Amino acid sequence: MKYTPTIGLEIHAELKTKTKMFCDSANDPDETRPNVNVCPVCLAHPGTLPVINRAAVEHILRVGTAVGGKLADFTEFDRKSYFYPDIPKGYQISQYEHPLVSGGELAGVAITRVHLEEDTARSSHGAGKSLIDFNRAGIPLMELVTEPVIHDAETAGRFARELQLLLRTLGAGEANLEKGEMRIEANISVSDEEGVFGTKVEVKNINSFRSVERAIAYEVERQTALIKSGGKVVQATRGWDEGKQATFHQRFKEGSADYRYFPEPDLPKLYLSEIPEFSGAALRASMPELPWERRARYERSYGMKETDVAYVAATPERAVFFDATAAALGDEKELVALAANYIVSDLAGLYAKKGSEEYATLDPLAFAKLIRLASIGDLSSRGAKDTLLILVEEGGDPERIAEERGLMQVHDTDVLREAITGVLAEETKAVEEYRAGKEAALQYLLGKSMKATKGAGNPGLLKEILVKELG
Ligand code: ADP
Ligand code: MG
Repeated sequence: MKYTPTIGLEIHAELKTKTKMFCDSANDPDETRPNVNVCPVCLAHPGTLPVINRAAVEHILRVGTAVGGKLADFTEFDRKSYFYPDIPKGYQISQYEHPLVSGGELAGVAITRVHLEEDTARSSHGAGKSLIDFNRAGIPLMELVTEPVIHDAETAGRFARELQLLLRTLGAGEANLEKGEMRIEANISVSDEEGVFGTKVEVKNINSFRSVERAIAYEVERQTALIKSGGKVVQATRGWDEGKQATFHQRFKEGSADYRYFPEPDLPKLYLSEIPEFSGAALRASMPELPWERRARYERSYGMKETDVAYVAATPERAVFFDATAAALGDEKELVALAANYIVSDLAGLYAKKGSEEYATLDPLAFAKLIRLASIGDLSSRGAKDTLLILVEEGGDPERIAEERGLMQVHDTDVLREAITGVLAEETKAVEEYRAGKEAALQYLLGKSMKATKGAGNPGLLKEILVKELG
């Protein structure tokens, strides 16, 4: 079809390991002092030799297993040569012909390959100087390439988010885009009038999921307009300008031949079938519950709304907290659905205000107790909100908190009657109006009575007593 956008993604993600890909320098993405996690190997001193980090290989194989890809039996590393100051050896050790993983699928998008390589150093330019920090040089880096099978920006965004969640779920990486732990490149083309596949353009430097979607939308529009006006898209690398919300030309793309790939002679070839821990069965047995499995379970077991499921399952921290809450609620469907409701609305609101989510410090047992209190009406929804706020800020026992602050709902008819008697004695005008047939006066008196109980009166009981007293 004419003017159909086609998108393929190339995503890099730093892996969570103790040490770097080919040496024992620390892999610490939070290190702020430059050039402390370095050694002769990752600084490329002559005569040094790389050693494969087994944990990094395992991470990739677990990702491959999760997405249903084919794990290589024979695999090797290759040198990808190019000159740039952030690549101290003059080549990057990567994989070319024999990636660890081929095929697979995630979020409905076919995956071409997943391979392992090393990250480059971080360079920064400014004030007439260029600085290089080698802490990042040699950090294990996953590269995942999708097939060109995406046709809209939303699907691309969904894929990238799902990959981040998968990496976090597997403990393979934190994949924070803001920290550069995950970097997304989008290849975009638009077919011509005859529907013939167009020339692709690669967009780099995208640092949020929203920007992925926006950059793709921008590029699709730009290329479509270009093709319609009789112009030709040239194969190039473009950047994403966050301020201008636009892509801009960076450079014309080099072909892979320029990299002079060849097998890395300093590393052994790997025959994965010779390593028992890397067998398909062993890897599958080590899988945690995967994001899509978790979402299916939430829908199946608790009948939760799809949007609630998506929210609760969107980060491992939320999901772990939710699972612990569900367990504390004996997995009772209605209670768990109510808990999900509170997480999606109230708790999400509180954490949004705080600017960070702190599920790790919120006791799921206490939260579950609050849900029970709310479900049996001991806590009004207002009372539950107030109690939750204190629970988040200070912790403690929700029943205690609610009692101390008079937030428990009052069911005691004597107490309620006393409050109502006081209101009726004061609001003589409204009482007369009600008796004269003005229904609205009842609502007014009910409001006043609720206020007299400091909002803690059980509304049903309160109304019942009020009507009786007025009659
Ligand atoms: P290159 O050799 O230029 O790196 P590849 O074939 O390896 O190209 O593909 C790189 C990325 O570009 C992949 O994510 C792939 O899905 C995507 N891609 C390939 N062809 C197209 C196309 N016509 N339109 C959009 N993306 C494409
Ligand atoms: Mg490529």
